[in-house]
Amino acid sequence: MKKHNFYAGPSILSEYTIKNTAEAILNFADTGLSVLEVSHRSKEFQAVIDEATALVKEILEIPEGFSVLWLGGGASMQFCMIPYNFLNRKASYIDTGTWASNAIKEARLFGEVDVVASSKDANYTFIPKGWKVAEGSEYFHYTSNNTIYGTEIRVDPEVPVPMICDMSSDIFSRRIDWSKYIAVYAGAQKNLAPAGVTLAIVRDDALGHVDRQIPTMLDYRTHIKKGSMFNTPPVLPIFSALQTLRYYKQLGGLEELERRDLEKAALLYDAIDNSRMFEGTVTDPADRSIMNVCFVMKPEYKDLEKEFIDFCSERGIVGIKGHRSVGGFRASLYNALPIESVKVLVEAMKDFEYKH
Ligand SMILES: *Cc1c(COP(=O)(O)O)cnc(C)c1O
Repeated sequence: MKKHNFYAGPSILSEYTIKNTAEAILNFADTGLSVLEVSHRSKEFQAVIDEATALVKEILEIPEGFSVLWLGGGASMQFCMIPYNFLNRKASYIDTGTWASNAIKEARLFGEVDVVASSKDANYTFIPKGWKVAEGSEYFHYTSNNTIYGTEIRVDPEVPVPMICDMSSDIFSRRIDWSKYIAVYAGAQKNLAPAGVTLAIVRDDALGHVDRQIPTMLDYRTHIKKGSMFNTPPVLPIFSALQTLRYYKQLGGLEELERRDLEKAALLYDAIDNSRMFEGTVTDPADRSIMNVCFVMKPEYKDLEKEFIDFCSERGIVGIKGHRSVGGFRASLYNALPIESVKVLVEAMKDFEYKH
């Protein structure tokens, strides 16, 4: 049975991506070799990384003056690379979840960190409002989508300093106003490719302004100069990313991706809000993530949570168990998830409610 994959990450990839990756593992670009065993310096792989880079620029409408990099180390490595390269004395961060707070912890190793607001005391169930970036901050860092808690900032914030954003779990779901940013990064394993590569998009003229020495591998300029080939890049994830990017372009780009994402999320939130048995953990609709939908059973039905997960798995629904720090359920509706899967989940919720 085809599964309905709601895992939070690594997560569902398009059928197009999986099929083309599988084929290239057997025979890559008619070389008679597997993509697993070719040199990253071969002309066939150079074509892959060039096209993938060009498609990222095209789909995200990235203007001149930014570099697109394919790096190792996950989004978590960016938590340290960002301050290494951009934080001289002081930066501002907003604490909206575990990943945001991990980024703050790393930044503190490099300079003063002004935390403009935090919703930690409310287990990150909302996005703080009405905060201000401190005077003299060199940049403002935020996490656009809080994968674990199901909250999201979908509108580029208005702040008086350049911005940096961790878009690991909602990149390719909306337009970005690049005039406000000096860097955006995303681990690939949510909306792009298998784990192992991280997309980093950095503004060239924002680099080179810190006083410290930067180790070669952690200096964005190294990777810009060498076209992400200073050392061996993650060849297979980049190949898969290219397939996803081709698929995104074919679908109609950001506008169509966002339309689909909004439609899927609306369908599920509507079912949750109209349910007798379930309730959302994020109550302000403005803060609700369209990528990760977190919900629980109302107190009077709490003891049925485990049974609901089993009920779902009988219908081929996998990956809806909530993160341990939230509990309940989390349905991740990444770009590759078809709306049919959301309909199957909604149907399961209704049938389960009927059963009890
Ligand atoms: C998954 C995730 C991360 C961690 O990514 P790694 O590649 O595992 O380091 C960081 N930030 C956000 C928003 C995420 O969703």
